This record gives sequence, structure tokens and C-alpha cells, in this order.
Amino acid sequence: MLLFFQEKKRFRPSLGASFFYSIICNRKGLGEDMPDAICAICPRACQSGAFCGKRGGVAVVAKAMIHMWEEPCVSGGNGSGTVFFAGCNLRCVFCQNHEISQTRPLIGVAHDADRLAALFWDLQSQNAENINLVTPDHVLPITREAIVIARRQGIALPFIWNSNAYVNQKPLQSLASLVDIFLPDLKYCDPVLSLRYAQAADYFFHAGNALCTMRDLVGLPQYGGNGMMRRGMMIRHLVLPGCRKDSMRLLDWLRANIPDVPLSLMAQYTPMHLAKQMKPLNRRLTGFEYESVLEYAMKIGLTVAYQQGRGAATPTYTPDFLR
Ligand code: SF4
Repeated sequence: MLLFFQEKKRFRPSLGASFFYSIICNRKGLGEDMPDAICAICPRACQSGAFCGKRGGVAVVAKAMIHMWEEPCVSGGNGSGTVFFAGCNLRCVFCQNHEISQTRPLIGVAHDADRLAALFWDLQSQNAENINLVTPDHVLPITREAIVIARRQGIALPFIWNSNAYVNQKPLQSLASLVDIFLPDLKYCDPVLSLRYAQAADYFFHAGNALCTMRDLVGLPQYGGNGMMRRGMMIRHLVLPGCRKDSMRLLDWLRANIPDVPLSLMAQYTPMHLAKQMKPLNRRLTGFEYESVLEYAMKIGLTVAYQQGRGAATPTYTPDFLR
């Protein structure tokens, strides 16, 4: 396993890790300042959207609905106006949304920016508390354009970027003053794990930098009188079976770099998709695994804004995308 040098504010790999990343990054490029034919949105730097399902000029929406099962400061009393995009640039083996993130051809309806903006208005008309964009990174340009249109038209709701954080710096920074709330799901620390489970050995390198940028863009959470989050950032982390040490390393990094951002620590892991056949992901999380990570987060002084009971580990809370 590679060890990383931790530095305030921006993630930098150690010398050994630098060599490791020079191989990865020289092979793929950093996804920025690349020829037009190569996509610059995320670190994969592909020449097509074959991995993530990205299409030119449109975003495929698998489902748009009022969603009640986010954190209370996100769902509130009326529910979060959630847009589930089809496709994903990370494609974790245990993805609970795998039917829409990994199925090809994509399941859903193609939306250009105008149509997407109209969808935001439709959710606002259903009294949604916010517009919650789920897995939006691979469709960032078109989604950004839709937010610009909706803002110009006077939409009032906060926009939430509900992301896996595997995104390049320039596209992320282009969301400044458009996105109100970042809700990144920080998944892995160890490159061996992120390679095995998401084909992305460089995940933490890029996600760490993305989290620092998100913090710069929106700052700490600000809440309205009704307890709803109006602006800011909250980090989610799902503890995985057999990976509690990795969770702790990830928490150490948060403590050293962005200790003031609240955490939503999740226990809802359920074996799904390819993970059903993969040890140790083919079992539920134990109480010990979750509790030890939770205790560690508190011990090192992180703010755990939300924690989950093991009763959350059920597919019940996942929308039926095929209906
Ligand atoms: S967003 Fe999709 S097409 Fe673009 S680099 Fe990432 S995986 Fe490749």
C-alpha cells in the first residue's frame, strides 16, 4: 500500500507515490489542457464517454423525483428534488444505483440544457426543498448550462452537487457561484482499494483536491431557520466491510486538511451488483466495524453531523429506477 504525505490545504503525494502517479497521470493525462478529443471532466481523460456513458450535448436523466431519504437537513419536510443522472465516471462494484449508473445502453431520457432547466422548475413546483443533482460529474458541462439558464429565469432553490468527487479542478471550479451545496461522497483512501473497486488508483489524489476546492467554493454549512442547509458542504463516507482501517486513514486526512466540514458517516452498505461475488464486500458491515470508525472520527475531533443505525442497511431506501 502507498503512503501519502499529508499537507495542509492541498493533497500532494509522497515521493514514492509521486512516481506511482506519474505513471498513471502520464498515461492518462491530468484531464486538463488536453486535446479537444479527450474529455477533460474527470481524471480518466477518455476519448469517448464509453466508460461513463457521457453523450455530447445532453444529459440522460434516469429519474427525477421528490426524495425523502437524504439527511434531514437535505430532505427536510417536503423532500429533496432529486435528479438521478444515468451513467457514472466511477462505477463502483457495489453501487446501489448500478441499474442506472452501469447499465448500457443508458436507461433514461436525454435532456438538453433547456429541458433540464425545465425539469428543475418542475421539481420546484412540487415544493422540493432543493435541487439535488445525483452523480452529475460526467455531465457537468450540460448540467452547469442548465443551472445558468434556471438561475437566469429566477429559480429560487439551492442547487446541490451530490458527487463522487472524482472530478478535475477546472470543471469543478466552473461551478463557482452556481452550486450552493456540495455533498461529496468520499469513498476510498488506499489506491489498491480504489483500483480494485472502481478502476481508479488515483481516486483519492483527485478526490482530496476536489474536496479542498469545494470547501473553498462554498465554505461551511449555513442553515435556514427551518434547519435546512442553504449553502456549504457536508462530506459523506460509507464504511465498507473489511475496510475500517481505510476509513480511519481517510478520516485522518480530513482532520489534517478540512477538519471543520461536517461528516455524514454511513452504515447502509448492502452487498449489491458485482460485490455480491467479491470478498469481503459480499457481506454486511458489522456493528464493530461501523462503531469503531464512528468512535475514531469523534476521538480525532471531527464533527459527525449524521450517523446511521444498521437498520439503514436495506435496499428499501433505493428508488426503483426501472418502474
Ligand atoms: S467524464 Fe466520462 S468521458 Fe470524461 S474523462 Fe471521465 S469517464 Fe471519460
